[in-house]
Amino acid sequence: MKHSIYGLTLEQLTTWLVERGQKSFRAKQVWDWLYKKRVKDFSEMRNVNKDCLQLLQEHFVIQSLSEQIKQQSADGTIKFLFKLPDGHMIETVLMRHHYGLSVCVTTQVGCNIGCTFCASGLLKKSRDLSSGEIVEQIIKVQQYLDEYEQGNRVSHVVVMGIGEPFDNYDHLMDFLRIINDQDGLAIGARRITVSTSGIVPKIYQFADANLQVNLAISLHAPNDELRTQIMKINRAYPLKELMRACQYYVAKTNRRITFEYILLKDVNDHKQEALQLADLIGDMRHLVYVNLIPYNPVAEHQQYQRSTPQAVQAFYETLKAKGINCGIRREHGTDIDAACGQLRSKQIKKNAALC
Ligand code: SAH
Ligand code: SF4
Repeated sequence: MKHSIYGLTLEQLTTWLVERGQKSFRAKQVWDWLYKKRVKDFSEMRNVNKDCLQLLQEHFVIQSLSEQIKQQSADGTIKFLFKLPDGHMIETVLMRHHYGLSVCVTTQVGCNIGCTFCASGLLKKSRDLSSGEIVEQIIKVQQYLDEYEQGNRVSHVVVMGIGEPFDNYDHLMDFLRIINDQDGLAIGARRITVSTSGIVPKIYQFADANLQVNLAISLHAPNDELRTQIMKINRAYPLKELMRACQYYVAKTNRRITFEYILLKDVNDHKQEALQLADLIGDMRHLVYVNLIPYNPVAEHQQYQRSTPQAVQAFYETLKAKGINCGIRREHGTDIDAACGQLRSKQIKKNAALC
């Protein structure tokens, strides 16, 4: 199967072309067509010589994702369902904020971490996405903007779609380098956020790579017993180890860390948990931001419901009173299967019913 051309860094493409007798400047020309002019076919690369185009056409594809469904929400959020060449489906979301447009990308087909509240974890991982398939999600959204909202640019990227990015680490790293490159999409490192369920060894590795991107940790519980109940990954990497890794990340990169905390009704939203969370953060309070997330109910996980607005507010106030930087996440696209993995799992079920 041919690979996506978007999976190569500029250096990798340069080496690849030079090894095949092409001049090194061709790589930059090709990148210009891919990332600045955003063409959809190799034949549109007018200043690239025939030999080079033929080589590229023989070995790479420029469009590997095909749009299956596009759902638009009343608040302007757009959710795309893409089909991969092998038939698997993934989701990508465009969100609008006062500070710009962000895209939420998927990194794996399904997820093996199996958090008990999450729609993505319902379907085991079939495979990792290649770096090209992750980059192309942003290209597809940008091409949509080029066509329907001229002048609008994707300014921010969140790696919070289906999958655990640190379980697909090498492809994630290439993806980050490609979209960050000035000659590529030029999305600033500080405008990129990677979210992990807490794979501790990879947090150290990521800190050492020192990319200056934002790191978000899906915490969701302030003690091991509750966290293990919600996220079984906590058995492998309990809170003490996770917090130590977070401290290392902050010390090494000088970047603040975000803790994501979904509020689940009567599960983790009591005052007691807010106090425990403040204790857990302890001395790190100036280096941490807590993002309180209203839960998007998932039909298959009936045991979880969204906390009441009063409980969310009370949790927030308890944290604030303890000097913790925190906020309540604004929701996007609540009317369009907003929880990550929901659109995909619904579509897969529908297809299964049709078979
Ligand atoms: N696997 C990574 C990134 C993808 S999930 C991780 O777990 O961090 C991105 C975020 O969405 C995580 O914080 C996750 O806990 C949250 N999430 C998953 N399902 C959700 C739901 N139904 N409602 C609200 N947030 C959800
Ligand atoms: Fe996977 Fe993240 Fe969902 Fe957990 S929350 S199952 S790690 S996608």
